[in-house]
Amino acid sequence: MKMYGKADVDTAALEGKKIAIIGYGSQGRAHASNLKDSGHNVVVGLREGSGSQAAAENDGHTVQTPVDAASDAALVALLTPDTTQAAVYKEIEGHLAEGAALLFAHGFNIHFGQIEPRADLDVVMIAPKGPGDLVRRQYLAGQGVPSLVAIAEDKTGTALSRALAYADGIGGTRAGVIETTFKEETETDLFGEQAVLCGGATELVVKGFETLVEAGYQPEVAYYECMHELKLIVDLLHEGGLKKMHEFISDTALWGDHISGPRVVDDSAKARMKDVLTDIQDGTFAREWIAENEAGMPEFKKRSAEDLAHPIEEVGTRLRSQMPWLNQD
Ligand code: NAD
Ligand code: MG
Repeated sequence: MKMYGKADVDTAALEGKKIAIIGYGSQGRAHASNLKDSGHNVVVGLREGSGSQAAAENDGHTVQTPVDAASDAALVALLTPDTTQAAVYKEIEGHLAEGAALLFAHGFNIHFGQIEPRADLDVVMIAPKGPGDLVRRQYLAGQGVPSLVAIAEDKTGTALSRALAYADGIGGTRAGVIETTFKEETETDLFGEQAVLCGGATELVVKGFETLVEAGYQPEVAYYECMHELKLIVDLLHEGGLKKMHEFISDTALWGDHISGPRVVDDSAKARMKDVLTDIQDGTFAREWIAENEAGMPEFKKRSAEDLAHPIEEVGTRLRSQMPWLNQD
């Protein structure tokens, strides 16, 4: 494992050079603002009439069209949704400076061949392992979100130094920047969000809630138990791993963890995790997701609506309104 820190950064690699951030959503806003606060020359690229324009201008950024922002930039970060990046790239390609660096925060479009960058470009990735909001908050607090760096193309010999200078500008080197490949980042990121973080965790929460409610317990009690309290456990794991959780939960809870955890998430669940990973590795997931987008996302919209119509959302909305401090950020 190779990890880069502040000492590995050559700040001259991007000093005074134009950095274009295309897209001002979760990651775009954090990267643009952190880079600017780190003293870099940042221009934000947004479509005419973009809903994000006011936010970018309020944050003190210069906003131009994606084409104008990308023109003559030393580094162009494509931070629009993954499903839009191929079209955005097509639009700006003819305007990119010779030898510019094209930067991604996730490897999907390069790894699955949706974007084939011009032959003279460096193609790099800085992927923060956290949402944009955290990338910004940690930076302002003098901290950083750990990040991954990958180099797909190094045509100029400066791909790594530019990527690391970018990671430094967003605060990533404060926590460490681990070297990976576009393949490893893409496949592990998709697996994590599907099997564990988003898909796995929400199914565990919802099925636990349903089990209690169907057994006749009050939905409010089931909500606190299965959704609200998850944060406590996740924070312990985040701060100190299994060891810290062991120290903070009761012996009864820990004994129940040992006895019942493996009954719920058993080897058959692990076998299905391997199936999920296989679909990611062999391109099945990417093919289906691209087709779903091309069809106008009917299944995506249907399933999203079903999630939000679940009784846990009705109970949760009511209970969370009693705790206005939860949404104070
Ligand atoms: P987002 O959905 O939050 O924001 C996208 C922004 O792009 C919008 O606010 C808008 O300004 C612009 N935009 C939207 N549609 C556009 C279009 N058709 N053409 C041009 N601009 C458009 O996106 P995000 O979640 O920040 O994701 C950006 C990249 O960062 C993706 O590659 C994603 O995989 C990666 N990433 C995201 C996270 C995360 O936590 N959200 C974490 C790591 C990596
Ligand atoms: Mg779900």
